[in-house]
Amino acid sequence: MKKRNEWVRKALKRKKKEKDRGIVDFMMIIYHFFEQLPQWINEMTDPRHVSYIQYQQADLTMLGILKNICSIESMRQMEEKLNEEICIDTLRILSGNRELSEMPHYDTLNNYLERLSPECLSGLRKKMVVSLIRSKQFYKHRLLGKYWKVILDGTSLFYFKERHCENCLSTTHKSADGKIQKRYYHNVLEAKLVLSDEIVISIGTEFIENECEDVCKQDCEINAAKRLLSRLKKEYPKLRLCVQGDALYAAESIMGICQKNGWEYILTQKESRQKVLADNYERLGEEKAFVENMGKEGGVGAYANGVGGYAGKRETMNVYEYRYTKREEGGRTQHPFPMDHEYPSNKAEFRGDDPYRSRPLENRKRRFQQPEKYPIPD
Ligand SMILES: [Zn+2]
Repeated sequence: MKKRNEWVRKALKRKKKEKDRGIVDFMMIIYHFFEQLPQWINEMTDPRHVSYIQYQQADLTMLGILKNICSIESMRQMEEKLNEEICIDTLRILSGNRELSEMPHYDTLNNYLERLSPECLSGLRKKMVVSLIRSKQFYKHRLLGKYWKVILDGTSLFYFKERHCENCLSTTHKSADGKIQKRYYHNVLEAKLVLSDEIVISIGTEFIENECEDVCKQDCEINAAKRLLSRLKKEYPKLRLCVQGDALYAAESIMGICQKNGWEYILTQKESRQKVLADNYERLGEEKAFVENMGKEGGVGAYANGVGGYAGKRETMNVYEYRYTKREEGGRTQHPFPMDHEYPSNKAEFRGDDPYRSRPLENRKRRFQQPEKYPIPD
């Protein structure tokens, strides 16, 4: 019995150690990649009145980050859970403020965050992204050795039964008893920079929301994408990007922006989105170029140039498709990955860069994409 108790105690200890390791890893990453982060935070335009300043901006910002990475849902919970000596020590290391002796009150953090301009935080993110890019550590993960992959995707944040603010998007749906109900929601569009197969970070955020209550046409993901892409070009004018996204973004307007900015794009091609293009690609039959035995599945890649031209489109559309068979529960399933892609003209280069890998990445991003959802009072 004693043995079992000891085993349980050890397991608990191990579990606790594993838990503790989380914050240690986080601090090591910050120290390794962003040694100057506290300094950058303190350089932001301070929104507080000078006579009220008790904490440095890094103390408050890092406390907010600490709360979020510990999945603490409310400010009150933060006050209860983080008001321990060890947490103060952690915050002191993170913010670099050696004078810090007590946790800031949540009202202090709230007041600060209410006044802080979102542009300051977006500028901070830019400094972090630029420093990661300049470190050259992730250069080898660029597509064709020069394009940084950027994935676009929208995510829903909140749903409300009643209108929550004048910027809410709204939709109607039929409930089980046949009643038509209006629902209000907030969505966000994120641009994620792919630094490696396992590291995907946010490079741009655009809220999908209406300007006011009585708009005749609601905001949508495509419009938000246009705003987001134009901001990315402004913030990173020299960065060569390859924009990736699902069939929703396979619109000529998005492709046009990419062409104008000197970027590449790989978008999912769906018959329901671009029917004429899909028909023309299918009609090419054996005229397509094939590359066999690609990737770890040994699948077949197929591509055709200028399909957009046959389909009467203005923008360049080259279709790339990857098929492989996978054993699943005794059966065999086909997995096609049709995409629009500005692929290289040379077959060897095409094989070497495995552009089809973008698709699994697209799926994997959902793991990173899901934001923490915190309750908001109705
Ligand atoms: Zn709202």
